[in-house]
Parts: sequence; C-alpha cells; structure tokens
Amino acid sequence: MINQWIATPKRTKAILETYGFSFKKSLGQNFIIDVNILKNIIQKAGIDERSGAVEIGPGIGALTEQLAVSAEKVIAYEIDQRLLPILNDTLSRYGNIEIINEDILKANVADMLKSRFKPSQPIYVVANLPYYITTPILMKLLREDLPAASLTVMIQKEVAERMAAKPNTKSYGSLSIAVQYYTEAKVVMNVPKSVFMPPPNVDSSVLKLTRREKAPVHVVDEDFFFDMVQACFAQRRKTLRNNLIRHFESAADNRTISNGLKQAGIDETRRGESLDMEEFAELANTFYKIVKSGA
Ligand code: SAM
Repeated sequence: MINQWIATPKRTKAILETYGFSFKKSLGQNFIIDVNILKNIIQKAGIDERSGAVEIGPGIGALTEQLAVSAEKVIAYEIDQRLLPILNDTLSRYGNIEIINEDILKANVADMLKSRFKPSQPIYVVANLPYYITTPILMKLLREDLPAASLTVMIQKEVAERMAAKPNTKSYGSLSIAVQYYTEAKVVMNVPKSVFMPPPNVDSSVLKLTRREKAPVHVVDEDFFFDMVQACFAQRRKTLRNNLIRHFESAADNRTISNGLKQAGIDETRRGESLDMEEFAELANTFYKIVKSGA
C-alpha cells in the first residue's frame, strides 16, 4: 500500500508523465513527494476521523489523499482546470473527497462549509499553499470568521516567521499583529526543499494558526486599528511619533500626536517593533477618539 501513495517521487513522476503535465510557476505549483511530512502535518493539525478538512490547492492529490484517509470528509479548492481529470483518477478510490474548481480568493467558503459539513463537526484548514498568494489567502480566511478550529499551512519560512513573530524581533511587524489578532500562531515544523517537486527557491515551514474564541484585545474600530498598526511600522527605523505624523498628515498636528501618545501611556520615542498587541490597541483606541472628535 505504502508505495502506492501519491506523495512519492516515483508515483508523482509517473502521474506527471501519464498526463503530460507541466508545472505552472505562476500558480505556485510545488508538489510534495514525501508522505511522512504529510502525515506529520495532519497530526499537527489534530485531524481525526470525525473531522472535516478543507484544502487549498490539491495539485495531483498528495495531501488530499492523506486527508481522505484521516478525516471524515475533504473539500479541496483547485484553480487549475488541467488538474481536474488527474485528481479524478488519482483519488478515485476515495469516496469522501470533493474538488471545487474555483479560485480560493473568489470562493464563498462560509456558504460551502454550511452546505458540506455538519453544524457540530470540527473543521480544519490544511494546505500546502501556493506561495505567491499566501497572505491574501490567509487574511481572507481569517477575516471571514469561518467556523474552522485551526489552519495548518505550509508556507514560505520567512512569512511563517513574520506571522508568528513576537515584539522586539526582526520578523515582528503589521502582519504579526494582523494574524495574531485572530489566532494563536506557531511555527510547528521546518521543511527541507527536497520534499517538493520541483523544489521551490525558498525555504518552507508549517504554520499552525489556532482560532481565538475572542479577540485578545478590545478594539473600537478594527479598520482604524489595523491602519494604525501598519502606519507604526511604515518606516521601521523611525519613532512612533514620526510615523504617526506621516500617517495622520492634516488630520492631527504634531502636538496632538504627542498628546495622544502621552494619553495612551506610550513613550513617543519608541519604535513600532517594541509595542505589543495591547499597546497597539490602546494607541488606536486613543487616537480613534481624538481623530473622530476632531480634537
Ligand atoms: N497540495 C499539493 C501538494 O502539496 O503536493 C499542491 C500544492 S501547490 C504548492 C499549490 C496548489 O495550489 C497548486 O495545485 C495550484 O494549482 C493551486 N492554486 C494556485 N492558486 C490557487 C488559487 N487561487 N485557488 C485555488 N488553488 C490555487
């Protein structure tokens, strides 16, 4: 049985040859050819036989197959039409997989989940993501507040580190706050290039994002909060005061900015990278009041 898995160099090569399939770099097509890595990802995700699994980008079905063996049902979104007949063939022995030929960025995932899974079923997103759209995919899935317990995804190592970064580290930035506002983020595995066909140019890691029951901080206006966080990191070497002066331009003068920082209890000479989520929330809520009241 083992040597029949899709995720082996031999079987993957045979499938590609049979169908004359050529990789599209523009779709981030790097297929996994090591079944142990896949089993490890599924174990880290916490999938069991009651689970519903959602995959993005099944490729020729390497991860899909392992999900089908471990979970109750698998729904996978694949944009590349050329892969549909291949998947139909490679996954034909499994009765619990549905492939949806749609761009994940355009898909109504919430409606799909409602129609395909039982209301109480634990749902997990598990994917080897196309790296060229990692952040848009994850931010879409997080913002839509889907009933998924966690997202366990293979992504570019550097992006995984940024998403899971803590304050006062090189990788910490607005992406860390955006992701950690919705989830607890943890890098659970580093993965060598050799387990992909073809090997990608960058290193890879598996990131596990576990949904928070509720936001870790109180934020009056989420858009305002995320805009401010971004502004505080706009020029990493500059102080908060200088970044905020640029951000607010005519909406608040320099003195108002200094006062706002004082009110929030944050030293104006600090840099964005030293603020934790709570401090960003305090800062945003204070400035929201100031800007909206026109003070
Ligand atoms: N899961 C397979 C594996 O691990 O071997 C393939 C992963 S490969 C890194 C990414 C897959 O995502 C490719 O099959 C690609 O065609 C698909 N893909 C790229 N952009 C997509 C999009 N916008 N929506 C859905 N699938 C997409």
